[in-house]
Order: sequence, then C-alpha cells, then structure tokens
Amino acid sequence: MPPPPLAGPWLGHACRLLLSLAVIILLLGLAACQPDSGRASIEPAQAQEGLWPELERIERAARARPAEQAQALQKLYGRTAPGSAERLEVLNLRGGMAARLRDRAMLDPILIELRNWPLAEQRPGAEAVAGLVQAAFHLNQGQLRDAKKTLQGLNEDAVAQLSDRVRYRLSALRSVVLADSGEFDGALQSGQDAMRLADRLGHGWRRALALSDMAWVYHRAEQIERARELSKAALESARQDPDPETLNAALTIHGNVFADHADASISQKSYAEALEQARLAGGEGMQALSLGNMADYYLRRGDFAQALKQAEQALPLAQRQQMLSAEVLALHNMGIAKIGLKRVAEGAQDVRMAIKIDLDQGAIAYAADGWAELGRYLEKAGDWAGAVDAHHNYRRLIDEVLRDDTRKSVLEAQESFDAERRAKDIELLARDNSLKAEQIRAHDLALRLWSAVAGCVLVSGVLLGLAYQRIRRTNEALKHSNETLKQQSERDPLTGLSNRRHFQKAVQRLTPAGGLAATVYLLDIDLFKRINDQHGHAAGDSVLIEVARRLRAALREDDLVVRWGGEEFLIVVPERDADAARLLAQRLLDIVGSEPVVHGDKRVAVTASIGFASFPLGPHELALTWERAIDLVDTAMYVAKAHGRNRAYGVQGVESKTEAALLQLMPRLEAAWQEGQAELVTLYGPSLQLEAA
Ligand code: GH3
Ligand code: MG
Ligand code: MG
Repeated sequence: MPPPPLAGPWLGHACRLLLSLAVIILLLGLAACQPDSGRASIEPAQAQEGLWPELERIERAARARPAEQAQALQKLYGRTAPGSAERLEVLNLRGGMAARLRDRAMLDPILIELRNWPLAEQRPGAEAVAGLVQAAFHLNQGQLRDAKKTLQGLNEDAVAQLSDRVRYRLSALRSVVLADSGEFDGALQSGQDAMRLADRLGHGWRRALALSDMAWVYHRAEQIERARELSKAALESARQDPDPETLNAALTIHGNVFADHADASISQKSYAEALEQARLAGGEGMQALSLGNMADYYLRRGDFAQALKQAEQALPLAQRQQMLSAEVLALHNMGIAKIGLKRVAEGAQDVRMAIKIDLDQGAIAYAADGWAELGRYLEKAGDWAGAVDAHHNYRRLIDEVLRDDTRKSVLEAQESFDAERRAKDIELLARDNSLKAEQIRAHDLALRLWSAVAGCVLVSGVLLGLAYQRIRRTNEALKHSNETLKQQSERDPLTGLSNRRHFQKAVQRLTPAGGLAATVYLLDIDLFKRINDQHGHAAGDSVLIEVARRLRAALREDDLVVRWGGEEFLIVVPERDADAARLLAQRLLDIVGSEPVVHGDKRVAVTASIGFASFPLGPHELALTWERAIDLVDTAMYVAKAHGRNRAYGVQGVESKTEAALLQLMPRLEAAWQEGQAELVTLYGPSLQLEAA
C-alpha cells in the first residue's frame, strides 16, 4: 500500500518506515472478509481449497509486483460469484492495491461494490471491509487523520463477525495509524492483536510482519532494546516461513532498528539482504524502495556519495514501474545527496521535482515535509536565501494542512458541540439553580429570624449573622464559578498564558482605526522536537511551562504574552521606541537561553529564535492589521532560524509604502535586506555572544 515508506528521509525515517510496514502488511493482506453466514466454513477448511490458496499466494506476492498481481486478481474476479466470500476477498485485495498505487479510479468501483453488497445480512461486514480499504487509501495519501477517523468509525459488531484474516489486517493497520498519531500504547495493543490472530491462523509470515511492526513501534517509543529483540524474533519467523516479500520487510525493519548500533555492519547487511530479496521477488518497485531505504541510511550517516549512488539506481526502477511514491523518494534523496555534495542548485532542482509530484497528487503534508527538509539542507549548505524560501513554502503548505485539519476539527467539534453545550448549559443551570436555591433558603431563614427577633434578640442575632454569611458565601461561589469558566476559555491549560482567543479580544485595544500600534515579537523555541526526542515529552512540557514563566516574569502586566502554537510564543507590547524594542528582544533571548531548564535530574539547554518589528512600520509609518504584522515577524523569525537560530531579527524599516508592496517584499525579505530595500537588525542569544566574545 502506502508509498510513505518510500516517501523519503524528510518524513523522518521512523515515520517512513512505519508506514512502509503498514504497506507491506496491507499489501500482503487485505483479503478475506467473512460474512456471517459462511463464517464457520471459511477458516480454516475453506482456506485450503478453491481459490483460497491462489489468493493467499497473491497476497504474499503483491508487495513485490503490484501491477501484475492486480491483473491476476482481475482474472480471478470473473471466477467468483457476487456476494461470495471469495468475491469479498478479491475486492479486499484489489482495494489494498488501489491504496498502494494511490489509484482512485481503481478504488471507487471496489468501494461501490462493497457498499452495495447483495446479501443484506453480510452488508455490515462488507461495509467494514470498505472502511479498511478506505483507511489504507487515506494513509497512503498521507491523510493520517482521515485514516484514523475512518477506522474509529468502523462498526465493531460487524468487525467481530469478520474472519481472522481481515481482523489481522485491520489490527495491523490500526497499529500503524495509532503509532503515527503518537499513541504508542494503543499501537502496541493492536500489534499484539495482530500477532494473536497470525498465530491463530498458523501463518508464520503474518507473525513475522506483526512482530516487525511492533518492533518498529517500540523503536519509535524509544525502547530500543525491546525493538531489537522483537525484530530478531520477526526475522526468525520470516526465515521459518519464508518468501522474499516477507523477508524484505523484516530485514528492512531490522536494518532500521539497528541503524544507530555501534556495529554499523548489522544495518548494512540487513539492507543489502533486503535488496537481494527484493531482486529475488522480481519486484522493481520493491527494489527501488529498498534502494531508497539504503540511500536514506547513508544520508543519515552523512555519506552523500553512497546515498547518491543508491538513489540514482532507484530512480529508473521506480519510473519503469510507474511507482510515483518510489520515484518521489528517489528524487528527493538524490537531491539531498547532491546538496550534501555541494551541487546545491542541481540538488534543489531534484527535490523541487519530487515536491511537485507530491503536490500534483494532493499529498500536501508530504510536500510540506519535503520543503522543510530542503530548507534544513540548504541552510547547512549556506544557501540562506534558498533556505528561507523553502521555509516559506513549508510554512505556507503546513498552514494549509493545519487549516484543513483545523477546519475539519471545527466541523467535527460542531457536530458534538450542540450536544455538549446543552449538557454544559444544563450542568451550569443546575449549579446556578442550586446556588440560587441556597440563597433563597438563606433569605427565608433570615426572614423567619426577623420575625423571631422579638422573641429572642440575642439568639436570633447570632443566627442572623450566620444566615448572612451563608448568603455571602453563595454569592461568592456564583461569582467564582463564572470567573473560572471565563478564564478556562481564554487560557492555555499547560502554561497558563493567554491563548489565541484571548489575544484576539485583547489586541483590539492596540489596534485603533489606523492599524496596529505596538511592537510584536514571535518567539519559537529552537529544535524543540529534539528536546522531546532526547528527554521525553514530559521534559518538553516542563520547558514550555518554564519558558512561559520566564517570559511572563520579564514583561509588564499589560504586555500580552500568548501561547501562539506548540512551541511558539507571541508577545505584544505597547512600547514602540526602536531602542527599547531591541533591548527587549535581547532580554528575551537572554532569559530563555541563559539558564538550562531543570526537569527532574536533567538540565535541558534551551534557546529560541525571534522575529520582531514595531508598527506602524518605519520609515513610511506603514499601518498594518495585526494579521499582516504577525506575518512579517514570522518571516523575520524564519530568517533567524535560517541564519543558525538562537538569535533575533528585527525589521527596522522597509521601503514599502503600501501593504500590497510589503506583501510582495515579504517572501524575499532576506534578499530585500541585502539589496537595501529593508533594514534588519540582528541580535545574538547568550551562548553565541560568548562565542563572539
Ligand atoms: P525549529 O528550530 O526549526 O523551530 O525546530 P523545532 O524542532 O522546534 O520545530 P518543529 O516545528 O519541527 O517541532 C516542534 C515540535 O514541538 C513538534 C511537536 O511535537 C512539539 N510540540 C508541540 N506542542 C507541544 C507540547 O505541548 N508539548 C511538547 N512536549 N511538545 C510539543
Ligand atoms: Mg515552531
Ligand atoms: Mg521550534
């Protein structure tokens, strides 16, 4: 199925490989769905006769020769009766191939037939198979979120009725999707389900794939030893029930989990043998993938010459097979290797071509990753203008991906929102009501006491006091509950800083009719992903909390400090004097970077990159909306990243007199600066100051 494994180093090898396993498993699989009525007869008895052995052979061979196997399936299709278990199997397998080939035209009729299954009582099962195929297709397209949603939407009762084979494939796909979403516990659980099912089927090759899959999940969860143990077991299973496709898969994962091992030969040998198995299987696409993995391996080790050699061998194979994903991988790796070899322009050209193929296929997230990786390598090669341009493209695409994602979440949220809001309203009403009832009771009590005053002044005086205390407490409780509600909706729960929602309200007071009047800083923590990777997510959270605290402490009460994104902070201060703006930028760099953040017994070094500017923008006092202002400081922040991080870039002035002119200048801010059309100031973070001194 998915091309992602092929999808290149920019996916990060973890992600790529995990996906590749999914591909393998799904391609090898995606077979028999077993409708209720025929259930008992198909496993295992029926599996031994009729078309079943042939279907299983196709299932095993599909990864190496998808086009050929798709044709073989098409022939078998004519020999199956509508509504039969064999028909379901054929559709399921072809669906897996359509997913792998990202072939919509092939997929659609399969989904239609599955969703219009002739036997009503088997329809939920067929529907579930359609969901499985659809999810695999989404995953192949890089649409993880849709894949996850589709899997979550499956009818579990119908799934329980499916054969062990289908449930095996479903568990394997779930495992990949969950691991990709960072949910490793769930991924391991699904991996275990897949293994149990493989064992029940008595299929060594499926067991090998399930074990490899789990090894990869452990690797991503940074349990390297466990990953290696499982990978060894997977390889053993694969050798006991061998076929070149399964061996290729198990060896590839083996190469990956040993990639950072002191003995580099383990990885190298595994990849070489994986390639050999791909040749034995006669699959050029698979060979292209294996070569891609090797190229990726050499890129990570900085051996660009070897990487280029492998990628150049992969390209014609991928092209002959018309495997776009493998072609993208090869082109991308070629380009990166060339940049590493200082053939910068030529290399960038290759990577751009790879990105274009992804874009043409609508795989925007992969294209975005491609730009990000290109940016990083151009930056290393000293091509800052190219790096900034790449970062820009990355930013634009990732915004699109996120917007798309956000839009979808909003729609989803809206569906459940009404129900939820009703529940919340009711809860609040109930709470208010009980508080009000309490007030009324207290008042009643007071009244009764007043009437009793004549009787016993002393006692009633005391009781009256108690009653009024009660009234005050209930009033305070009401006020408090309202305030908490308001705060919760405008604060970031992790850092306690304002969130975007609060910002949008608060920024109004800084935006008189003529546009924003303030200084804006966008601060992004450097290489934060690495902090998470090296010290764990909890340490990453501690860093965010501490950075937020330091920022808040360095700023005045009426300065706005907002958690703008994951590790991005937006600061807006009313002060607009250029010297003061620079001083504050320096202070921000210093307070973030001077002292490591303590997390348990670890000391985590942190630096940040900042973009800033004061508005209206000199020298023409160009007035901007806050959205445009943030775009500009965001661009300056990327220039800071491209020049090595741990520094601040301030836009002191631009020659643009209109917003339209500024919009044209913005994407080429770096060049405009060099050509004197923009004035930028650079400030360095603490360790760099030391180096400079
Ligand atoms: P750069 O210097 O280019 O900014 O590199 P970076 O690694 O900081 O940037 P990137 O945008 O690639 O990674 C940001 C990471 O921040 C990715 C995401 O997993 C992580 N992250 C986002 N929100 C949170 C959070 O609330 N807690 C933790 N621990 N990590 C988070
Ligand atoms: Mg960021
Ligand atoms: Mg960052």
